[in-house]
Order: sequence, then structure tokens, then C-alpha cells
Amino acid sequence: MRRILVIEDEPRIAAFIEKGLRAEGYTPTVAADGITGFDYAMSGEFDLTILDIGLPGMDGFEVLSRLRDSGSSMPVVVLTARDSGTDTVRGLEGGADDYVAKPFRFAELMARVKLRLRTRIEATGDSTAVLEHGRVRLDLLTRRATVGGEIVDLSAREFALAEVFLRHPGQVLTREQLLSHVWGYEYDPGSNVVDVYVGYLRKKLGSDPITTVRGMGYRLG
Ligand code: CA
Repeated sequence: MRRILVIEDEPRIAAFIEKGLRAEGYTPTVAADGITGFDYAMSGEFDLTILDIGLPGMDGFEVLSRLRDSGSSMPVVVLTARDSGTDTVRGLEGGADDYVAKPFRFAELMARVKLRLRTRIEATGDSTAVLEHGRVRLDLLTRRATVGGEIVDLSAREFALAEVFLRHPGQVLTREQLLSHVWGYEYDPGSNVVDVYVGYLRKKLGSDPITTVRGMGYRLG
């Protein structure tokens, strides 16, 4: 429940949202026009969409109505213009789950996103809301990590990295895979950020769970 589609044509706003989502441990993808955005939204690759209304190609209302017409129930948070009550009503009637009026603080948007993802997980009864391996337990709803029942304070990025490991126990994960899952493609493959963060996780989760597989990457268990 971390893959978020951002359909927004203003590069400055798109970058602001993208950066903020990454910092919170989500994996965002940006589409800069309605047609591309709709295609991405239909791919089934995303857990939630943040949708601007004024878009080239196809506006946000149309993206939303096509999405709902094709049976998608993916949560959609609409970005409306401040003081445009009409947009808000139209958006919600058109099947948006929530809205945030521009200009917004990132925390406002994040609160809406978290609420909608949470509602979604509860509605679908997604059993992957809790991941466990040995003594390590991650609650994806509360974003809380525990080791042997003790709460461990993980940063958003550490949590995201731990989540990738716990979703693929016993599997060798290369640095490139971990980079793309957790950091997106903003880091160059030569970066040692993965090694640094694996080090942090070992300190916090105990040195046992994550094994180095020489020349390949890392493995949980
Ligand atoms: Ca726009």
C-alpha cells in the first residue's frame, strides 16, 4: 500500500508532492497529463491516485469518471482550486474519495492519503497489513515496527526498506532492486545509500535477520 500515482501537470507541484511522498516512505509515480495518467491508473499498479483537476489532454473530472466507469475502486484524492466549491462537489459526486484545496501544506495532503489508504486496507481486509518475520513485526497501518514486542523507532525510509525485506523473505534482493523500491530512480546505482540503510536496520532490528550475499545484495533470513 505504498504505490501512489500523482497526476499533476505543474512540475513544481508534482515535484513537491513526489519528494514529500518519498520522504514518507511511499513510492510515487508522476503523470503530467490526463491521458497518460488514466493509462497508468488503469494499470493496476497503484494503491491510490492524487489527481489534479486542470490537466492537459483530459481533465481530472474525465479521468475520474472513466476510471469509475471501468470499475476501478482505487482511492482518489482530488486537488481542487481553493474557493472552488463547485470543483469539490463535482469531484466528490464523480467518485473522488477525498479532496485537498490548493494551495495546501504537504501535511494536509498526507493526512488525506493516509486516511484513504487506511480505509482501503480495512475495507479490503488486506491481510498484508501486518508483516512478520522472526521477532520482527511491521504494522503497515500504524507504520509501527516491533522486535520481540518492543517498539522500535524507524524512520520512514527505514520502514520502507524493512517492508521490502519482509515482503520477500529468503529472497536475494540486489542493491538496484532495493534502490528502485525504496528510493525510486532518483539515486544513481553507484550510490551506497542501500548499504548505509541496511546498516541502520541491522542496528535497530538486530544484526541477525539481514544477511549480506556477497556480490549480489541482501537477503532476509
Ligand atoms: Ca493543473
